[in-house]
Amino acid sequence: LAVLATTDGLTGILNRRSFLERAAEDFKRAVRYNEPFAVLMLDLDHFKAVNDNHGHQVGDDVLRAVVALCKQNLRDSDSMGRYGGEEFMICLPHADLDTASGVAERLRTDVQSTSITIPDGAISITTSIGVAILRGSDTGVENMIARADTALYAAKGQGRNRVVVDPGDPVPQDTPDLFPDAQRGTTL
Ligand code: GH3
Ligand code: MG
Ligand code: MG
Repeated sequence: LAVLATTDGLTGILNRRSFLERAAEDFKRAVRYNEPFAVLMLDLDHFKAVNDNHGHQVGDDVLRAVVALCKQNLRDSDSMGRYGGEEFMICLPHADLDTASGVAERLRTDVQSTSITIPDGAISITTSIGVAILRGSDTGVENMIARADTALYAAKGQGRNRVVVDPGDPVPQDTPDLFPDAQRGTTL
């Protein structure tokens, strides 16, 4: 019963509520120990067309296949949840900007390059990903999720099948610019 209450029936990963609980714990730990922490939000591109062209059953198979691909790229300490229909969230404890961007980019290319077997052949799909890393101004994991969502929205607007990293806090004038403008909020 506990497993049913915390997992998504279709894909077996955490459901939205238990993912958010886990994400909140990871967030608190990262803040307490001053460790990096990142959140990824993924949304499959043009997924409605998969259902329309191949049927809902195939759509379900594609969702399971994408989840399996993602899990191959994650560590035990990472967590993945189903946020909505074809929308997924991933928490990456200890991941800084470079690590999180790298994971997201690997997920994107893996999804793009994997052909998914369906009853009448094979199809491929792409995914857009928004990345947010823990910033000093974050008061809860909700802030990070909102920023990851905004970045995901930007990825869709820029043409889909891409990773966009949230630019985060503005860098104060009197400190060295660790992330020059050219690298902030740009597509990887
Ligand atoms: P975009 O690239 O902008 O994300 O386009 P999209 O078609 O992926 O976005 P949209 O939100 O219009 O469609 C999402 C689709 O996902 C519509 C819905 O039928 C489908 N969907 C949601 N949950 C499930 C599910 O559990 N199984 C299946 N097969 N389809 C689902
Ligand atoms: Mg979609
Ligand atoms: Mg969606």
